[in-house]
Amino acid sequence: MRGNLRELLTRTLELALTYREGLGSGLARPTLNYHAARERFLASMPDTGMDPAQMLEELAALAAPGLMPTAGPRFFGWVMGASHPAGVAADWLVSAWGQNAGYQSTAPAAAAIEEVAESWLLDIFDLPRDSAIGFTTGATVANVTCLAAARSHVLRAAGWDPDADGLFGAPPVHVLVGEGAHSSIFSALQLIGFGRNRVISISMDDQGRMIAPALAEALQHLEGPRIVIAQAGQINTGAFDPFAEIVEIARPGGAWVHVDGAFGLWARAASSLKHLTNGIEGCDSWVADGHKWLQVPYDSGFAIVRHREALLRAMTQWSSYLPIIADGDRVPANLVPELSRRARGIPVYALLKTLGRSGIAEMVENHCRLAVRLAERLAREPGIRVLNDVAINQLVVGFSRGNADARKTATEAVIARVLQEGVLFAAGAQWGEDWVMRLSVTSGATSEADIDLAADAIIDAWRAVQAV
Ligand SMILES: *Cc1c(COP(=O)(O)O)cnc(C)c1O
Repeated sequence: MRGNLRELLTRTLELALTYREGLGSGLARPTLNYHAARERFLASMPDTGMDPAQMLEELAALAAPGLMPTAGPRFFGWVMGASHPAGVAADWLVSAWGQNAGYQSTAPAAAAIEEVAESWLLDIFDLPRDSAIGFTTGATVANVTCLAAARSHVLRAAGWDPDADGLFGAPPVHVLVGEGAHSSIFSALQLIGFGRNRVISISMDDQGRMIAPALAEALQHLEGPRIVIAQAGQINTGAFDPFAEIVEIARPGGAWVHVDGAFGLWARAASSLKHLTNGIEGCDSWVADGHKWLQVPYDSGFAIVRHREALLRAMTQWSSYLPIIADGDRVPANLVPELSRRARGIPVYALLKTLGRSGIAEMVENHCRLAVRLAERLAREPGIRVLNDVAINQLVVGFSRGNADARKTATEAVIARVLQEGVLFAAGAQWGEDWVMRLSVTSGATSEADIDLAADAIIDAWRAVQAV
């Protein structure tokens, strides 16, 4: 058994190295689509088992052409991190250690490490140091977690206990959301019983920022409990809501102000960008991802809540068989929806320690500089327009050609061509009335040379599309 274990894990290391070392020289896209990948794996449930090393060998060979090079240097699709080697290594140990990280009693070291990661994150985000952080799978679940705490807090203030008694018969809660909000906010509202459509939408400006006077206007006519949902880092433009104004407007009526900062909250870690988040520290809850800008391997998100007791009320699993917890102890399971779970704090701790304050600031600032470089190169080409102010790492790119339909066709053709060539990975998105190319510089592996290669490839594709 011991020999087999060594052989299996050593072979895993080799397979991982081959994959990671090949990124950057290969195509920046999978060569199989989902349907072709599915064909490779479809089989009936095996009756008998097989040697794990052989299983692994086969798994890696079958999966390889269908792997998305998210960890590669020229991946600009959606907003995704690159699974930093230090995080991958720590995550391997997490799997090998096999800890159930819900409780101090089930996993003492994991609970201790997560607690340290919590305090380091509060330090680097410069948020109230006695806030609580739940380590979730990502920003979507972190939004659910924070909004459940918000629900508990505002309804208890109105004399109702939603955690014990549910929502039937509860006073209505007004939910005010900026028009530029990410889809996961609506998913969270759907999950916590508030409904994705039962929101008051607050208009946004041309960068996707909530317009503060519009919020003031909407709040004026409302009575009863309310939650305001703001955003740090609009998914397309990277823009930041005016937090100081929002807090000042929302506070008098006792609103809970929540911030979705899946990637944008990391601007707090860089002194040259921190001003974009002014006033954010006055909010009640904040969400960030570990698996985007911090480069933690998937999956990793943070639900940060100023009012620890509200989060505990919303997340604690009440049961007679679970360990009795000493008052004041930080119980990982009581801060997130899950009971049994992976030691998700460990790769976070590993990255914070590997990069340090200066390394994180340098990475974030570098990505923003690279985004500006990419924007400048693209904007020099006739017919290509960068439609947003590149405040951080996001680019919204339009290709000029007639009306919105013609522009959409052109954008789709450019993206298809870019993917065919395989120098970079880019994706499309809806922005206002336009279908645009959205580029996100969030990958730890990207260099200036990669940006120049990507710019040239996009320009070549645009020229080719015009020539057709
Ligand atoms: C990515 C993102 C989310 C969703 O995060 P997941 O980690 O994918 O669940 C939410 N909000 C914003 C602004 C995002 O960029």
